[in-house]
Amino acid sequence: MTKYPVVEKFVSINGEGFRAGELAVFVRFKGCNLRCSYCDTKWAYDNNAPCEYLDSNDICDFAEGIVNVTLTGGEPMLQDLTEVCIQLCGRGHRVEIETNGSVSIAPLRDIDGVSFTMDHKLPASGMEDKMCLENYKYLCRSDTVKFVAGSIADLERAHEIINKYDLTNTCHVYFSPVFGQITAEEIVDFMKERRLNDVRLQLQLHKYIWSPEERGV
Ligand code: SF4
Repeated sequence: MTKYPVVEKFVSINGEGFRAGELAVFVRFKGCNLRCSYCDTKWAYDNNAPCEYLDSNDICDFAEGIVNVTLTGGEPMLQDLTEVCIQLCGRGHRVEIETNGSVSIAPLRDIDGVSFTMDHKLPASGMEDKMCLENYKYLCRSDTVKFVAGSIADLERAHEIINKYDLTNTCHVYFSPVFGQITAEEIVDFMKERRLNDVRLQLQLHKYIWSPEERGV
């Protein structure tokens, strides 16, 4: 049975996505292949980060009684998540995988009950060239593409990507501000100017309910 390196697990509310505000179990996997300029979970990819090794039974036991399960990181797709996804979905959970967009989602695409919230990293992140663009072929209605923007140039690039891959007709599309770098108001103004229908501004609920640095919430 696969053992997964987990740096934290907790029950909270979903801060993002179309199930924002609902209860969810969060399982945060150790390690990340990217180094985004604005990363607020650097500690999760630190080689020395303390972690526990959990198998899919342990994760299912922890998730008992909560339907939504979010697998996050770091970058969770650096692990082979097949086993834990099949087991969680088999027990009636809805599994959302928060992925940074640099790893192929194809291997897990056909597991019934799995959806993806996939980032497209924009220029301010310094990581845009790492995106696995093939993933756009595999997205479906239950998935979300999230653009975390730190500048107007980022929003302009996001708009190009939305058009290029016809994202608003394929999946949910969210804009989210890099905390402290661009205001929500600037994003709304951009959406108004560009007449961006079917794109949603999203503010991370956790940063408003708890302090921005709080972990395990
Ligand atoms: S992908 Fe996520 S965890 Fe990895 S460096 Fe970027 S923001 Fe941090």
